[in-house]
Amino acid sequence: MAAVPPLVTRFAPSPTGFLHLGHAHSALAGWRRARAAGGRFLLRLEDIDPGRCRPDFADAIQEDLAWLGLDWDGPVRVQSAHLAEYRAALEALTAQGLLYPCFCTRAEIAREVAAAASAPHGPDGPLYPGICRRLSDDERQARLAAGEAHALRLDMARALARVPPLSFAEEGEGRIGCDPARFGDAVLARKDAPASYHLCVTHDDALQGVTLVTRGVDLKPATDLHRLLQALMGWPEPAYAHHPLLTDAAGRRLAKRDRAATLRDLRASGASPAAVRAMAGWPD
Ligand code: GLU
Repeated sequence: MAAVPPLVTRFAPSPTGFLHLGHAHSALAGWRRARAAGGRFLLRLEDIDPGRCRPDFADAIQEDLAWLGLDWDGPVRVQSAHLAEYRAALEALTAQGLLYPCFCTRAEIAREVAAAASAPHGPDGPLYPGICRRLSDDERQARLAAGEAHALRLDMARALARVPPLSFAEEGEGRIGCDPARFGDAVLARKDAPASYHLCVTHDDALQGVTLVTRGVDLKPATDLHRLLQALMGWPEPAYAHHPLLTDAAGRRLAKRDRAATLRDLRASGASPAAVRAMAGWPD
């Protein structure tokens, strides 16, 4: 019988605020699965967006998780310390002819979208109308040479032509077909951030040998794009277990703005880790 590879899960928060009960639910989902299987649980800080992430939140995340009773295997991976690796992945996609520079401002894109007869929307917003995909090589080179700020977009049609039909294995549901075209020419490197969430998350899951991605169902649509990047880069395919989002008593999704639900505040108000684990949907 072939050996079953060890289960590797991860929790990958962005340090843009304090952890709330929804994060605790997600972290515990991955941690419990790994520990029950004798596998590995990794912690990764997705701090690639310099405008929104703060080091003090990164420290607080680790302190709050430890207080909650979680431990993780190996060092914490901090994405901002690995920019050269993401750049290399972007270069590999560029070498395949799959990326192009996009010089558009948000306002230009919004104007073009507003003027279009139909403006399809994807999981990340209105689809990019392709303005910079249609630039001539000369204009592209001239604008790059002039040092004009630009994002890097995936040429979705070209990318799709390179891969077979894609799907992913969702626990409890079987294989689900992917439709990455719903994202249009997705941004893989932003003007103000060296790489996008989509690129870094798939790069790191592959590099770190994650075998089961446990995360909120709000990220399930992104899996279509993640599978495409995995196929283009030759990265292994993890399994997925998207969990429902925790809601408050009124059925509203918990969000960072709900200060009362942060682990910090619950702790300060005297709640025990076991009580907070139970509030997060995982009673001992
Ligand atoms: N960093 C992402 C977030 O905080 C989660 C990434 C993932 O689990 O795939 O929303």
